[in-house]
Amino acid sequence: MLEINGLQKKFRKKVILDNIDLSIEKGVYALLGPNGAGKTTLLRCIAGLYDYRGTILLDGNKITDSINIGYLPQCFSTFPEMTIYEVLKYFCVLKKIKKEETDNEIKKCLQLVHLSDKVNEKISRLSGGMLRRTGIAQALIGKPQLLLLDEPTSELDIEERMNFKKIINAVKGDCTIIISTHLVEDVESICDKFIVLKDGTIIETLPPLELAMIAQDKLFEIKSDLLPAGDLDYWVEREYYKDGVSYSRVLAKSMKFGNKIDDICIEDGYMALIKNI
Ligand code: ADP
Ligand code: MG
Repeated sequence: MLEINGLQKKFRKKVILDNIDLSIEKGVYALLGPNGAGKTTLLRCIAGLYDYRGTILLDGNKITDSINIGYLPQCFSTFPEMTIYEVLKYFCVLKKIKKEETDNEIKKCLQLVHLSDKVNEKISRLSGGMLRRTGIAQALIGKPQLLLLDEPTSELDIEERMNFKKIINAVKGDCTIIISTHLVEDVESICDKFIVLKDGTIIETLPPLELAMIAQDKLFEIKSDLLPAGDLDYWVEREYYKDGVSYSRVLAKSMKFGNKIDDICIEDGYMALIKNI
């Protein structure tokens, strides 16, 4: 179990994270929040990269070298002159993988991220998506107890974003996985719970269905030219055309001239939370 109590993180005098309390069992968790909410900072505190106030414990122990953590930073880059194999071998050394198990471990991780045929490719020759997948592979080395992935699907194409879900399903089980993202669709089918972070505090920790239900009775379809002018009590999710007429899908507590929509999804609930509707 990962337990965070009274976490506060400041940079100089600016409070970036405040009053963070979180208690999560083994499973897959999405850390959702707009840009600047503090997702990266929270993952770095958990990974032990920052000093902070408060406590972070994994199964009752402080997070130290003895805990096997896999961490994918938001911007993963590494030794450009080395090959994927050499980089992963280096991570095996850092993670104290037994020498005789190294090649097998690298092989397994590269298979998961579909990079087996690039094992001898130099890092400098990789596309953004391949580099990202190399980053995911290094995080998976050594079967971590705690896997922290910061925006893992950024730079991945559609096929690889779908494969990412398979990777998570293949490695989950006996570990705690936290995936930071602002893209609900990349994680909605693989997460047990969503942790929603806004302005440096956790505003909700909810299972997918409950997060979606936040938007219940708050989602409307309305002809776009009937939207109230200058009213900030609503949020237009998207506009679309039907029979040449522009309609808007809108989140609001109430909406004159709007028709309620029933097919709410997780993203609707997330936006209702973030926009305070
Ligand atoms: P997110 O990952 O959710 O986009 P971040 O954790 O990167 O958010 O940033 C949260 C806030 O902390 C932002 O306002 C950002 O400018 C600030 N911040 C992040 N890292 C630093 C740093 N090293 N020094 C000062 N401020 C920082
Ligand atoms: Mg970030």
